[in-house]
Amino acid sequence: MPNYDYIIIGAGLAGLLLADTLGKDPYFKDKSILLLDKDAKQTNNRTWCFWEQNNDDFNTIISKKWDSIRFTGKRINQTYPIAPYSYKMVRGIDFYNSYFERISNYKNICFLQEEVLNIEDNTSEVSVKTAKNTFTACKIFNSFYDISQVKKQKQHPVLQQHFIGWVIKTEQNIFDDNTATFMDFSIPQKGNTRFMYLLPLSKHEALIEYTLFSENLLKKEEYEIAIKSYLKENLNIDNYTIVEKERGSIPMTCYDFSKNNTENIMHIGTAGGFTKASTGYTFKNTTKKINLLIQNLKEEKSFRKFYKKDKFWFYDLLLLDILESNNELGQSIFEALFKNRSPKLIFKFLDEETNLWEDVKFISALSPLPFLKALFKRVF
Ligand SMILES: Cc1cc2nc3c(=O)[nH]c(=O)nc-3n(C[C@H](O)[C@H](O)[C@H](O)COP(=O)(O)OP(=O)(O)OC[C@H]3O[C@@H](n4cnc5c(N)ncnc54)[C@H](O)[C@@H]3O)c2cc1C
Repeated sequence: MPNYDYIIIGAGLAGLLLADTLGKDPYFKDKSILLLDKDAKQTNNRTWCFWEQNNDDFNTIISKKWDSIRFTGKRINQTYPIAPYSYKMVRGIDFYNSYFERISNYKNICFLQEEVLNIEDNTSEVSVKTAKNTFTACKIFNSFYDISQVKKQKQHPVLQQHFIGWVIKTEQNIFDDNTATFMDFSIPQKGNTRFMYLLPLSKHEALIEYTLFSENLLKKEEYEIAIKSYLKENLNIDNYTIVEKERGSIPMTCYDFSKNNTENIMHIGTAGGFTKASTGYTFKNTTKKINLLIQNLKEEKSFRKFYKKDKFWFYDLLLLDILESNNELGQSIFEALFKNRSPKLIFKFLDEETNLWEDVKFISALSPLPFLKALFKRVF
């Protein structure tokens, strides 16, 4: 039975970031590491966007960057410069190629394309069964996400950021490629939180996503009809070619994912709760959490204690409670934020980097009633 110090299950965002961080750190040079994925990761299956400032870790694979964003609501339609932040895009395939190349240079890390069928923690070691092999390891990092576990509990609402996106090309120059449309709420809400997300890659190419923050997914046609209608009615675009399509549903929940960890098995990425509950953004959070995980590994801290409930966890919980019971309120909440506060404060708050005074400033932009109701319901 081949034995390793660490096995990483999943060579997606979290698995590859973890493998690279372990591989380049001399502290782990004597650790044997196996990276497993059922997929060869040779397709562009997603596009990641995130905001950040003063960081060039991903510079070589950033495919597009915007220095301003647009927010459209029922009463506002405004473009905001976002300095010192930039909004950045990384294509999945560029990320996979770049990280697989880095990992191939680390002698102590080996990648195998095999599907994991079973994981068993025998306390002293963990066995990982695939169709061809059974491997053992001291520690497992698992990024396989199973939503049914999260949905089983009733303590925390489980919404999803779900969407279908098309990359389209037009014959004419139509898009302002200096500005990313962060949220366009000018579309029918149909009792939910629904918005369009539009990322111009050039003047005649853009990624357009019909996105909801809600409990249940829609039929594929419903997202696609909404995109077609937006292109025609809102952007006046009749002739276009669809170049790529993507689809996703990202969990939005304050559920304690570390409940699924054991002393030897740590869940990472979406499966580890690295997604920001109130937005579905995961990319930047994953880079932060992987660094924290490395620190914890060096300090030999328990995997069960990785998850922390802080004030931001509670703010997210209140927003999710509101959106679960009154899903249509999303538009007015986000519109109040963008009307009354700068994107700089909004990004800082969503990055969980604001102090108490900044929290008060942020929260006071919102109509208090839904939040007080949600607070009352939680407390009593
Ligand atoms: C289409 C899409 C677009 C997104 N866009 C953004 C964005 O713009 N910004 C943002 O912050 N977040 C975004 N997200 C959310 C989040 O960043 C991604 O889902 C991210 O890939 C999560 O990383 P992960 O490592 O947890 O999972 P993944 O990247 O999905 O990796 C999990 C890996 O596990 C492998 N796997 C699964 N089961 C097995 C098994 N049994 N055996 C072996 N391997 C297995 C899979 O093949 C996969 O490679 C997006 C998500 C999707 C789906």
